[in-house]
Amino acid sequence: MKNKGLLIVYTGASGVGKGTIMKKLLEKNPNLRLSVSATTREPREGEQHGREYFFVSREDFDRLIDEDGFLEHAEYVGNKYGTPKEAVFRMLDEGLDVILEIEVKGFLQVKKAYPECVTIFIAPPSFEELQARLRGRGTETDEVIAERLKTAEQELQSSSLFDYVVVNDDIDRAADEVLSIIADRKANA
Ligand code: 5GP
Repeated sequence: MKNKGLLIVYTGASGVGKGTIMKKLLEKNPNLRLSVSATTREPREGEQHGREYFFVSREDFDRLIDEDGFLEHAEYVGNKYGTPKEAVFRMLDEGLDVILEIEVKGFLQVKKAYPECVTIFIAPPSFEELQARLRGRGTETDEVIAERLKTAEQELQSSSLFDYVVVNDDIDRAADEVLSIIADRKANA
């Protein structure tokens, strides 16, 4: 029988450097695929439909919920985000390892439905560092930054629910730690 891939949940606060670590993971592990989520948020500069996200209207998002098209979905700071189910199952069936970059409410849903998944939380070295990074990014208004920081504080409190917490003190070191977690789980599957 064909080996099924590993389902990995990857969570961390806005501005923690998740995206940068993710790029390294995908470069270094050819069997890993990032699930592209759907969202109702507006694209940021440089983001492309179908690459970072499927940017959809609220109506289309709600239709996908009704059609049971999501593995999980949640609202985050005023916008909806969800993981399209079909693409994830197809990749897992092909033996690929699939990583979901999602927030905590989505993590809780996936953990409940697929307890065999591997869950990894990316933490900042400190809350002050996170604040500085989020402000320095310059992609959000002050109001959105404040809300994202409030959410981040709550999310940090959930980190103990994850199988692994990786501190992003250094991008390469953190990426290597995540890669070895995945390799270990594959070896022991
Ligand atoms: P951003 O707007 O910064 O791209 O994402 C905001 C938050 O939504 C991040 O924590 C990100 O990981 C999360 N997110 C992205 N896609 C999904 C998804 O499909 N489901 C859930 N639950 N969260 C998501």
